[in-house]
Amino acid sequence: MEQSFIMIKPDGVQRGLVGEIISRFEKKGFSLRGLKLMSVDRAFAENHYSDLAGKPFFNGLIEYIISGPVVAMIWEGKNVVATGRKIIGATKPVDSDVGTIRGDFAIDVGRNIIHGSDSVESARKEIALWFPEGPVNWQSSLHSWIYE
Ligand code: UDP
Ligand code: MG
Repeated sequence: MEQSFIMIKPDGVQRGLVGEIISRFEKKGFSLRGLKLMSVDRAFAENHYSDLAGKPFFNGLIEYIISGPVVAMIWEGKNVVATGRKIIGATKPVDSDVGTIRGDFAIDVGRNIIHGSDSVESARKEIALWFPEGPVNWQSSLHSWIYE
């Protein structure tokens, strides 16, 4: 089953949105396979965002991600990568639809609350970086009520 790496950024933690965000993924029917509150250092954040090195916003982005604890998660389910991006909303909150996490709770792109993997391949890399111990292995007893 497909997995995505989802991270609540420091502003989402500070603003008390952890429960709300977890609830949206849970209520959709996705399964939580990893969850931890952690602070990351500069080298770790730069590794996570290595594809964006050289962008004008890169240094500000790294300062933002290391400015406080983040909630790192693995969510599992059919099409969870693409659907997770829909739940999160467009990168710039000005373009994010109402009803998405960024559309409902964010204003500035540099304080957009949450990260989600943009492809199955980046999910695989991000899960390996953030969860070297691997996902927790369990299956929800609701499985047959969510999948036909
Ligand atoms: N970002 C920014 N300014 C920009 C574009 C991106 O501060 O003009 C930040 C923003 O926090 C975004 C992150 O960099 O979530 C990663 O950018 P990406 O294009 O990967 O967007 P995402 O995948 O998070 O939607
Ligand atoms: Mg991205």
